[in-house]
Amino acid sequence: MNLDHSYATHLGDLGALTKPLRVANPQLVEVNHTLRDALQLPASWFTQSSIMSMLFGNTSSFTTHSFAQKYGGHQFGGWNPDLGDGRGLLLGEAKDKFGKSWDLHLKGAGPTPYSRFADGRAVLRSTLREYLASEALHHMGIPTSRALCLITSDEHVYREKQEKAAMMIRVSQSHIRFGHFEYFYHNGELDKLKRLFDYCFEHHFSACLHSESPHLAMLEKVVTDTATLIAKWQAYGFNHGVMNTDNMSIHGITFDFGPYAFLDDFDPKFVCNHSDHQGRYAFEQQPGVGLWNLNALAHAFTPYLNVEQIKGALSQYEPKLMAEFSQLMRQKLGLYENTQNTAELVNRWLDLISQDKRDYHISFRLLCEIDEHGENQPLVDHFMQRDTAKMWLEHYQQALITQNVKRQERQANMRNINPEYVLRNYQAQLAIDAAQDGDFSRFRRLLQVLQHPFEGKPEYAEFAKPPPDWGKHMEISCSS
Ligand code: AMP
Ligand code: MG
Ligand code: MG
Repeated sequence: MNLDHSYATHLGDLGALTKPLRVANPQLVEVNHTLRDALQLPASWFTQSSIMSMLFGNTSSFTTHSFAQKYGGHQFGGWNPDLGDGRGLLLGEAKDKFGKSWDLHLKGAGPTPYSRFADGRAVLRSTLREYLASEALHHMGIPTSRALCLITSDEHVYREKQEKAAMMIRVSQSHIRFGHFEYFYHNGELDKLKRLFDYCFEHHFSACLHSESPHLAMLEKVVTDTATLIAKWQAYGFNHGVMNTDNMSIHGITFDFGPYAFLDDFDPKFVCNHSDHQGRYAFEQQPGVGLWNLNALAHAFTPYLNVEQIKGALSQYEPKLMAEFSQLMRQKLGLYENTQNTAELVNRWLDLISQDKRDYHISFRLLCEIDEHGENQPLVDHFMQRDTAKMWLEHYQQALITQNVKRQERQANMRNINPEYVLRNYQAQLAIDAAQDGDFSRFRRLLQVLQHPFEGKPEYAEFAKPPPDWGKHMEISCSS
C-alpha cells in the first residue's frame, strides 16, 4: 500500500521536500485504531518498529515526499508572510473507502526551511491537548482535524521551561489554510496562486467546477462552512483561542489547537489565551473574527472575482451562522419550532446562566432532566436568581406545551446534543501531568470518556462534575 503525494508532486514549488528528523528514543504510545481503519491504513504500519522505519527511514511512503508547505497569515490582525510548516510535514494522502483523500501530517517533525530560529518540535503537553480536544470535538459532531497516533521521546526542548518533545500524526481533508492563498496573493506570485486554486478544484472543491464561476462557488463554500463551524463552537461552548488566518482551514474544520478551552462558568467575554490581552479571540468575538478572516482570505480571490461577487459571498456568512446557531440552540432546549418565542427563550436562558456565572454544560444537562410538569428542583437550586430561573422555567414549560413536545422524546433528544462530558482544561492537565511521568492511563481513560460525550455512565461520574476552583483559573501556556 502506498500513499498519494499529490500536493508535493503537483505543487512542489509551493513548499520544500524535507525529511523528518529522528527524536531521542521515539516510542509509539497511542494509535487511533478506528481512524487508522477508516483510512484503510495497514495495521502493520502502526507498530513500534514499523512506524520508526516508516518515519525515519528514507524510502517509506511517509518520507519519499515528506513536504513542508509554505503559507503566511494574519496574526492578531497583522500580516506575517514568514510562516509555513516550521515543525510539521505532510507525509502523504490516504484514501478512505469512499475514495475521499485525507492528509497525514507529522507534527513535531524537526526543522524545515520555515522554522526560522525555532527547533521544529512540539511538546508532549501540546500534542496531548490536541489529541484530546480533536477527539472530543469530533465525537460531539464538530468538524475538526483528527489525531492518528502519538509518539513520545526523551528529547528535551525548551519552552518556558524544559519539556519533553513528542510527535503526532494529524489527519484532515487537507492542511490548506486561508494563509496559503493569502501568501501567494500578497507575494504577487499569481501563477502559484492559480495552481493552488486549480489543485483545490481538482482535489477538494470539484463540485465548484460545475458552477459558472468556480472561484465564486469555492469562496461561498468556505464562507458557509466556516459559518457552520463557528456556530457550533458557539453552541457547544468552545473557545479556539488563536484564530489567526494561518490557523483557519479552508475546509471549515477546527484546526491548530493551542491554548483552547471549553467554557466552564458561562462568561461570553471569556479569553482562553492568556497572551491575548485585548481579548481579540474572546469567546463572543469568534463569529466576528470568522468574518474578518474570511475577508482576509477573499483578497486572494480578487484576481478572479469582482467586488460585488466577493461582497455577495461574504454576505452569506452572518445569516448562515445565525441560522445554524439558532437551530442548534433550539435543539439544545429540546424544542421543535424556531419561533420568535424560541429565540427569546434561548436569549433569556443564556442571560441567566451568564449573569449567574453557572457552568455552561451542566446547566444544559440539568435542563434535560426537568419533568413533565416543567420541574427540576436541582435546576432551580443551581441558580442564584431563583425567581428569574422559575419564571424562565414557566415560560419554557409553556413553549413545550404549545409545541406539543413529549417528555421522553425531549429528554432523549436533549441528551444527544447536550454533552455530559466535555474536555475540561484541568482534566487535560491531570492527564498531562501523569503522562509526563510516563503514565498514560489517565490520558487513555479521558479519551474513552470523550469518545462518548452524550452517554452518562456511573463509572465516569468524576468527569461530569464541575471543575474545582483551581481548575477554572488555570493559565494554559500558549507555547507548544
Ligand atoms: P502555531 O503557533 O503552532 O500556529 O505556529 C505558528 C508558526 O510558527 C507556524 O509557521 C509554525 O510552523 C511555526 N512554529 C511554531 N512552533 C515552532 C517550532 N517549535 N519550531 C519551528 N516552527 C514553529
Ligand atoms: Mg498554526
Ligand atoms: Mg499550531
